[in-house]
Amino acid sequence: MKVSEGKLRREIEANAQFGALPDAEGQGRTALTGTDANRRARERFVDRLEAGGFDVRIDAVGNIVGRWVPPSADPTAPPVVTGSHLDSVPVGGIFDGPLGVYGGLEAVRAIRESGRSLERPLHVVCFTEEEGQRFGNGILGSSVATGQQSVDDALAFEDESGTTLEEALDRIGFHGSGRIDASEWDSWLELHVEQGTRLEQDGASAGIVTNITGITHCYLEVTGEADHAGSTPMTDRTDALAAASEVVLDVEAAANRLVADASPSAVGTVGKSVVEPNATNVIPGQVRLGIDIRDVSSDSIAKLVDALEASARRIERERNVEASVSRPYDVPPEPMTDRCRETLIEAAAETNVRASLMHSGAAHDTMNVARVTDAGLLFAPSRGGISHNPREWTEWEDCAAATTVLAEALARLAEA
Ligand SMILES: [Zn+2]
Repeated sequence: MKVSEGKLRREIEANAQFGALPDAEGQGRTALTGTDANRRARERFVDRLEAGGFDVRIDAVGNIVGRWVPPSADPTAPPVVTGSHLDSVPVGGIFDGPLGVYGGLEAVRAIRESGRSLERPLHVVCFTEEEGQRFGNGILGSSVATGQQSVDDALAFEDESGTTLEEALDRIGFHGSGRIDASEWDSWLELHVEQGTRLEQDGASAGIVTNITGITHCYLEVTGEADHAGSTPMTDRTDALAAASEVVLDVEAAANRLVADASPSAVGTVGKSVVEPNATNVIPGQVRLGIDIRDVSSDSIAKLVDALEASARRIERERNVEASVSRPYDVPPEPMTDRCRETLIEAAAETNVRASLMHSGAAHDTMNVARVTDAGLLFAPSRGGISHNPREWTEWEDCAAATTVLAEALARLAEA
């Protein structure tokens, strides 16, 4: 499998011109969904697909899919699909998204050149509004392609100025029709930059993701009694902040215990605290804490939520406050499919690319796709773990090495 580092580099560098930030330290770009920079990036991608002989389709939310049916393949067989996104965050980097889109295109080019006999079509996809910087909360295009959100709901999302996604897509000429349906795919593999330092530490050129982390947000409301800080004796207080502080330490201790005993990837953070009335000379009457809990297993997330509940009951008993816990945000962890993960491991071995097994702390479009079909996620190393920043960088040889693993894995999936 001969992936061309030069070709891949030229594609990513050409894409980097759209929304380029010449004054930034590093190589930055701003290409928000529906902007001119995004339009030009999309138009170029469509050109590259057409030049490569792909059949191009654009769906109603602007997802782009290029379809190639190998001569040996059954055109009606469920395809093997790869891709990522071309939108960026404001003042973002040039690899986050484009590596997966153009890595996917280069992988398919290398597979075609290898002459391998494939049973299934290969598709390369660019999803709309992965970053959620203009419309909605992110991974938008894939949420529609996986049926978690309707086309109409997605098109109605508005940006800050009241422009809808539909109007923005119309303006740039990417409001297509129908809906790409990921549940019809045989399998999906996404190549993305790691945005962390694990691969750098391991000296590896590729990371094979085992699990995408789940995220829960809990809120704790502690109610005591606001009172005069001078005239209320220490024996006669119901201090909501002092009570809430015990919960902060309990959450930290519970996460540390879980890391030591059961799950090294578990994290628990009390990142937000709102104190009422928040005055130096008043005993705090009410405190609201925001707690972020993440891990790759639902079990350990549940354990940390239980620990939070137990801590709330304890301060009610011992400190006479009222404490209530809510859990308004809960995204369960998503394990990658065995078959895709194993295929990536075999592909790395076959192509002599050093790869680490790891979990992903970020969701990516793969999190959505994994809910409806077999999915795998592959990382390339990020220098210093920096991302969403013009200093985001992945060495070209690592881009090529990870793309080689992607190509081998796609070919294996499409041969079966
Ligand atoms: Zn991304």
